[in-house]
Amino acid sequence: MDGLGLGPESEHNPLFSGACPRLARLLREEAAPIDAGLGVPGLPQSATGQTALLTGVNAPAVMGRHIEGLPGPRLKEIIREHNLLSALAARGYRATFANAYYTRDIEEVRSRRFQSVTTVATLAAFGAVRDTADLLAGRAVYQDLTRASLRERGYDGPFVTPAQAGRDLAALATEHDFTLFEYFQTDRAGHKGDAERTRRVLGEFDEFLGGVLAFAEGERRLLLLTSDHGNIEDAATRTHTGNPVPFVALGAGAGALKIRVRALTDIAPALLDLYP
Ligand SMILES: [Zn+2]
Repeated sequence: MDGLGLGPESEHNPLFSGACPRLARLLREEAAPIDAGLGVPGLPQSATGQTALLTGVNAPAVMGRHIEGLPGPRLKEIIREHNLLSALAARGYRATFANAYYTRDIEEVRSRRFQSVTTVATLAAFGAVRDTADLLAGRAVYQDLTRASLRERGYDGPFVTPAQAGRDLAALATEHDFTLFEYFQTDRAGHKGDAERTRRVLGEFDEFLGGVLAFAEGERRLLLLTSDHGNIEDAATRTHTGNPVPFVALGAGAGALKIRVRALTDIAPALLDLYP
């Protein structure tokens, strides 16, 4: 989740406003606070934070600062070289990125000038992404969960409830050894500072979480939830925050992981050790 920090339960924290009871419970009872600043001054940002999360490399330290938005050439190199998806694929595991790209043309995605950290990692690992056909087959999840934002781009397929999107993700995860899903509406809502929108986004995510949670009850299954930096947890500011981010782990091996993971850079190496 982009832009989800662990902040105090105050009137400025929409996570504890009742909008997202499942998420609030996880944050209260299951989350370990982990460091997103990584020893580099300034507020943590997405390009470097997500690179750190997916590679274990202290990207802000390498770059000398926190870099926002999408990765440039040097970060892309680090992602291609060190990302978790490629590492798992190289070890023979079935890993996947569950997010759907609204396209039928992989070349179009490959040639995009601006690519997210997850896009760079996914293309490096698999040379392909989940596309419109996967979305229509329920074998991918759109970033907004319901596909509503695709309407203006000409999408005329079915829409789904957030809970159904959660079940679709869980189904995909049962067929893979590792499944990644990225949700960034939390960061967008945090930047907007519109209480109504924040409440809607958190409510939809919570329904989605309801659909996903059953997955963690299966044997030898592990569900993780984390973030690149804080934002939405403090409605008093529209910028990112310096708060720690949550590291939620539920299911097989969760306890040991929560002890070991203290910062964004610990996640990828700790996960890789679970896949010898
Ligand atoms: Zn942001």
